[in-house]
Amino acid sequence: MTEFKIDITLTENPKQKPDFAHLDFGKNFTDHMFIVDYTKGKGWHDARIVPYQPITLDPAAMVFHYGQTVFEGLKAYHTSEEEVLLFRPDMNMKRLNRSNDRLCIPHIDEELALNGIKKLIDLEREWVPTAEGTSLYVRPFIIATEPYLGVAPSKRYQFIVILSPVGAYYKEGINPVKIAVERQFVRATIGGTGNAKTAGNYAGSLKAQEVAEADGYSQVLWLDGRENKYIEEVGSMNIFFKINGEVVTPMLNGSILEGVTRDSILKLLAHWNIPVSERKLSMEELYEAYQQGLVEEAFGTGTAAVISPVGELFWENEKLVINGGKTGELSKKLYDTLTGIQLGTESDPFGWTVKVEKQEPATLSQTN
Ligand SMILES: *Cc1c(COP(=O)(O)O)cnc(C)c1O
Repeated sequence: MTEFKIDITLTENPKQKPDFAHLDFGKNFTDHMFIVDYTKGKGWHDARIVPYQPITLDPAAMVFHYGQTVFEGLKAYHTSEEEVLLFRPDMNMKRLNRSNDRLCIPHIDEELALNGIKKLIDLEREWVPTAEGTSLYVRPFIIATEPYLGVAPSKRYQFIVILSPVGAYYKEGINPVKIAVERQFVRATIGGTGNAKTAGNYAGSLKAQEVAEADGYSQVLWLDGRENKYIEEVGSMNIFFKINGEVVTPMLNGSILEGVTRDSILKLLAHWNIPVSERKLSMEELYEAYQQGLVEEAFGTGTAAVISPVGELFWENEKLVINGGKTGELSKKLYDTLTGIQLGTESDPFGWTVKVEKQEPATLSQTN
């Protein structure tokens, strides 16, 4: 195992903790953050935990101009055994490097990144909310910091991890959402950056989201960027349908983001011997199945909501109501099982959870 030195500077002004019973998503941040610098020729260096603070960048820093940046999103959960668990964080670190590849950002050592995340969470243990459904959201990201207006990969970067306590996604039980099938805008196209977690994809999706919201829908269903025919994702989640007893999700094609939740659901379904296939699914095919009464359930999947059932799809002036607009049995079972594994209350047959080890305070300022 590689040893990395992580310098720690503790805050002298710990913040007042927010009201953990009323947490808005992504608005509160903990006392510290983890940073690693990259300089071409030197590699990643100066891993450190410092007090949470604004960062100062040159206005010419390349991230501001051409969007060379990637991010990740995962959660730490407080268990009834007073432990803190991460869910498949190795998958996020691997995906971070796949996103890096696409954006010409140098790979980061996955062990260094994960060690930094664990150390930071360990230090911020008191910030992991304990109430049911709450968690500590972990946001790692990399930005291009070289001051240069030429269009080229940056020679300098920063990897930063910030933490945000978040409330229960479903405060009054799981609520199915209404979704508009998007015909005008596309999120991603094959050969583009859709399978990388990079800022531009999200900036480009805001317009469709805004229009859908104005029409009373909470998200859009994205179709493929070439033929405008095949179902890809819902909002910033992967999408699943249960059609005539079989679970179908769009196969990874280079423009779909490969969700950790998506992968976990595929593995759980196979484990339960429920027929499941990753394949192309067109809106026409779904509509035909719907007319025959074969569409049993639909749900989005992602770290934030875990499972988000779809109660209604708006398509060509028609409302497709799925499962009477209610949460399906399988959606509920998947939600309960996944959140149970994440919280350590359900058995973890795949060894997905990773404990954040407690460090002795005395070793905090030492190597690794
Ligand atoms: C992050 C993300 C997902 C879900 O990924 P998880 O790893 O399950 O959180 C799906 N689609 C898009 C576009 C995303 O950005």
